[in-house]
Amino acid sequence: LVAFLLYITYLAVPISSVFQAISAIQESRGALERVNEILDLPGESDEPAPLARRPAEAAPSAAALEFRDVWFGYDPRQPVLRGLTLRVPERGHIALVGGSGAGKSTIFALAERFYDPDSGQILLGGTDVRAMRRSECRARIGLVEQHSPIFHGTLRENLTYGAPAASPAEIARVVELTNLDDLVRRLPDGLDSPLGERGIRLSGGQRQRIAVARALLARPVLLLLDEPTAHLDPVNEAALCRAIEQVARDCALLVAAHRFSTVRDADQIVVLEGGRVVAVGDHEDLLVRSPYYRRLASEWTVEAQPRALGV
Ligand code: ADP
Ligand code: MG
Repeated sequence: LVAFLLYITYLAVPISSVFQAISAIQESRGALERVNEILDLPGESDEPAPLARRPAEAAPSAAALEFRDVWFGYDPRQPVLRGLTLRVPERGHIALVGGSGAGKSTIFALAERFYDPDSGQILLGGTDVRAMRRSECRARIGLVEQHSPIFHGTLRENLTYGAPAASPAEIARVVELTNLDDLVRRLPDGLDSPLGERGIRLSGGQRQRIAVARALLARPVLLLLDEPTAHLDPVNEAALCRAIEQVARDCALLVAAHRFSTVRDADQIVVLEGGRVVAVGDHEDLLVRSPYYRRLASEWTVEAQPRALGV
């Protein structure tokens, strides 16, 4: 009997630890499910949407971004994009022009899968975005808007926000590409100077160039610039345009712009009116062929006066 009791006690220890382990696993699984519930916000599921058709296979010559006959409305009864077709080749530089409300920002929101089209297809690198996780779409894309945030922290931290593993050599290269090297030289502690409210005060142009550099360090395949020069004076606008030109060697660029200077160097200008492409070509070409473009360009000429005076 003693031997039997000893045997039971001997067994009991591992058995109880097995039970402990099982309950620990169950608890942590419960915690995981709760985390998943929190992450699984409505409308922001990170799973690819079920596809009616198989996604197009990525071809070697696939465009960085392609819209194929895309219809979309925030309210489906009021379409904002009406059969939009657009192609941004790999390392291509496409400018998107059109008045306020034409649908430029909506195109960017769809490319990043903030919304899905009502019909038609959007492809990133040849793959239908609906077959991709949202996080995957956003990892391929860098987006810079009109006003870019600067975080509390050093310039270096601001630059490597999306790319904490960026090497000093990569940072130096991107700083040069975006014409930030002058700023770095002038700051008391260079890249380690603090920015933000209590740090160095930056001009709008410097903020925008930091945003472009930040986006680039995350190595996007496609850079989307949504009216990046909208609030800049001509000098800062010119510096940002030079930076954009340099950047175009590294990745594909789609730049929404309402001013000539941002548009001039693009490989192709796409004119958008009421959610539709109404003309495609280079500047000279469009001046001849598109009355709507001519009207937009005449507004730019008035705005661009200070540049003409040599600023
Ligand atoms: P653009 O960037 O060319 O000025 P947008 O893409 O921002 O144009 O807007 C296109 C149209 O969609 C406009 O009529 C605008 O009012 C509408 N719109 C934009 N964003 C939203 C939104 N989040 N919800 C509802 N309507 C929107
Ligand atoms: Mg916009």
